[in-house]
Order: sequence, then C-alpha cells, then structure tokens
Amino acid sequence: MLKITPYFGIIVLIVSLGGIFYPKLGYFLLLVFASLMIVAPFRGRWFCGNLCPRGSFVDFWLAPLSRKLKIPDFFRSMWLRVPVFVLLMGFMIFRIINTEGIVDRIGMVFVTLCILTTSVAILFGVIIAPRAWCSFCPMGTLQRAMGGKRYQLKMDAGRCIDCGRCQKVCPMQLPVNEILEKPDCIKCGRCIEACPKQALSF
Ligand code: SF4
Ligand code: SF4
Ligand code: SF4
Repeated sequence: MLKITPYFGIIVLIVSLGGIFYPKLGYFLLLVFASLMIVAPFRGRWFCGNLCPRGSFVDFWLAPLSRKLKIPDFFRSMWLRVPVFVLLMGFMIFRIINTEGIVDRIGMVFVTLCILTTSVAILFGVIIAPRAWCSFCPMGTLQRAMGGKRYQLKMDAGRCIDCGRCQKVCPMQLPVNEILEKPDCIKCGRCIEACPKQALSF
C-alpha cells in the first residue's frame, strides 16, 4: 500500500456528491477504468489495494463503522460475480447509448453508477465487512480475469509459525499462509507488514 492510499477515499465523496451538481466529475471514472486496465495484466488487483478511491474509502473511512464479519463465500463466487458484471456493464452501456452524446448526460451516467455502487459498498461494508463489495465488484472481477495469476504473494513455509496474524489483517479475508494462488489478493502488503517471521513477500 502507498503512503497516500488512505487519502484517496475523498475522491469517492467528491465524484458522488459533487457530480450531482457538476456531472463532468463523472469522467473521473474513465481514468479509473484506464488505470486498472493498464495495471491488471502485470499486477492483477494491485490497483484495488493501492489506488482505488473506493477501496481506500471502505478500508480507511468506513471500517470504523463496520461489523467486520466474515464475507460470505457466495460473494466471491462466479455465480454472483459474472451476473453482477454483465448487469452493471449492460446498464451503463444502455444508459450511455441513450445520452445522444451529450457530454453532461454521459458524465451523469458515470456519477449515478458511482453513487449506486458506493451505496451498495457502504451497505455491505457496514453490515458485513469493509471489503465485502470488493469481493464481487465488476472492476475487481475484471482485474482478476486479466491478471489474477500475476505478482503472486510468496510464502516461505519454513519460516511460518502459523500464528494467523496475516489472515487477521487481510482486508479480503484470504487464507494468506496457505500455499494457494490468490487471484483476489489486492497486493496491499498488510500481511507482509504483520508477519513476525518475514515469511511473506511479493
Ligand atoms: S474491487 Fe472495485 S471498488 Fe474494490 S478496490 Fe477494486 S475496483 Fe475498487
Ligand atoms: S493476502 Fe496480503 S497482500 Fe493480499 S490482500 Fe491479503 S493482506 Fe493484502
Ligand atoms: S503472519 Fe507470518 S508466521 Fe504468522 S501465519 Fe502468517 S505467514 Fe505464518
């Protein structure tokens, strides 16, 4: 995680609330799409753990209000993720087609998408866990598909004492010290910092 990551959450509020009065702010989402598409083929979901404004918002702004329960396995399942991806992308494209190319109307499509998805993220973030939405967010699913096998977390099994600290700090609630591929790892590095035996690295 970058030192600046916790501050990116403010962008969610600026786009969601400011965009109601100034729809062009919605175009910021295009920068988000472009950035994650560039990063994902090389580092998987690195964008989610380091640059995403909503990821920062749920981790650092919403977390104090969260019940921090276990994220249901169904949220990670492709049976949920693929339909959510198709529905949200279809909804966005349909609405853009109906804007007749008017700049502010297109901006408002992005603003409403941001408000809708942020509302769902806040709801699940409070009643379940901060990163519950990130388990099935279409942009997370897309990054996983593009580079889920890239930049994998490595574990030195000889050093691990099975203390469980890495799993406790993992915002995605992954089985950190199991030798498995973790395509939904957001490369935040918190498990590496928490490990007392320096058993984890990228
Ligand atoms: S899963 Fe979606 S909302 Fe969460 S950090 Fe990634 S792109 Fe952002
Ligand atoms: S496995 Fe480690 S780097 Fe990956 S999301 Fe969990 S805490 Fe972050
Ligand atoms: S924090 Fe380090 S030592 Fe503890 S379980 Fe995780 S990898 Fe093993």
